[in-house]
Amino acid sequence: MARVYNFSAGPAALPLPVLEKAAAEMTDYRGTGMSVMEMSHRSQEYSDIIETARDRFRRLMDIPDNYHVLFLQGGASSQFAMVPLNLFSGGARADYVNTGAWSKKAIAEAKRWGDVNVVASSEDKTFSYIPKLERDMFSPDAAYVHITLNNTIYGTRYTKLPSVGNIPLVTDASSCILSERIDVSKFGIIYAGAQKNIGPAGVTLVVVREDLVGDALEATPTMFRYATHVKAGSMFNTPPTYAIYLAGLVFEWLEDRGGISAIEEVNKRKAALLYDFLDSSSLFKGTAATEDRSLMNVPFVLPTEELNATFIKQAAQNGLVTLKGHRSVGGMRASIYNAMPLEGVEKLVAFMKKFETENA
Ligand SMILES: *Cc1c(COP(=O)(O)O)cnc(C)c1O
Repeated sequence: MARVYNFSAGPAALPLPVLEKAAAEMTDYRGTGMSVMEMSHRSQEYSDIIETARDRFRRLMDIPDNYHVLFLQGGASSQFAMVPLNLFSGGARADYVNTGAWSKKAIAEAKRWGDVNVVASSEDKTFSYIPKLERDMFSPDAAYVHITLNNTIYGTRYTKLPSVGNIPLVTDASSCILSERIDVSKFGIIYAGAQKNIGPAGVTLVVVREDLVGDALEATPTMFRYATHVKAGSMFNTPPTYAIYLAGLVFEWLEDRGGISAIEEVNKRKAALLYDFLDSSSLFKGTAATEDRSLMNVPFVLPTEELNATFIKQAAQNGLVTLKGHRSVGGMRASIYNAMPLEGVEKLVAFMKKFETENA
């Protein structure tokens, strides 16, 4: 069997033991004689699957009791609308920080439903840094403050949360959830599409504080109300059953490996290996501001477009695939989510060193 090291930004690599377990259970889930895909979501077996997944996720993230965990559909992109629809009832004004393409999309959706104040932006330098944020930049009457915790395309992340006082802090954590410890109690809402660090595409995780569930704007469709899904335990309609099952296997894998603090150590080693090489290289160059570097997405460039293309091609021939950067940044991007083993990054750095010697 030939498995490559897949540096895709998303959908991204999944842990091999998870895929193997899913394969073993594919046609007969634990003696039921059927696949999880064929199972009623109201069955006892499925109820155990979703509840176990939820419990594992709560343990991994150390989620306080006054937060609900929802398994929804529609991706992080649906949350761009769901957040304002549900939170604007407490004042139709919100503060957003613009740190890239995903922030912009969130801002555009929120603007449909109320006043949006973009308090800071890093667009002046192709979103290569996180703007400095001070308490007095936020409006005291804002219904919430929205940040994109890790910027998948530009490889930046918040290493420190903005101080927002009592205003609920809402974050898109799609590309960094479960990668390092975060204090859930600092947030009103945390949401994430699954296809980077949770599981396959198709399920969206939402962690929402109890007091933010309830009133939504009058026109909000039933499916877009947090209250609908809280009340029904994410079973208002058919949930993405197989994606949740697989996410549950990923949570189990993470717990078996020692949880978030253990994977955080591995992630820091992986990122350091890559950044240390980039900092010492005479040919490759990282594009994100040093102090705001992501642990998950590492964009870098070579001096010419021709070298970028040659590197991507030769890397793929060596089993290091999906390294092409996003078109807005160019060059390369190595996404090194939880499922990327340390050896994958070691192989990549060794290949980069060899490429540097050959092309110096
Ligand atoms: C991938 C990504 C999204 C888009 O997620 P969908 O599930 O495709 O809607 C949004 N925000 C961030 C930070 C992402 O990395």
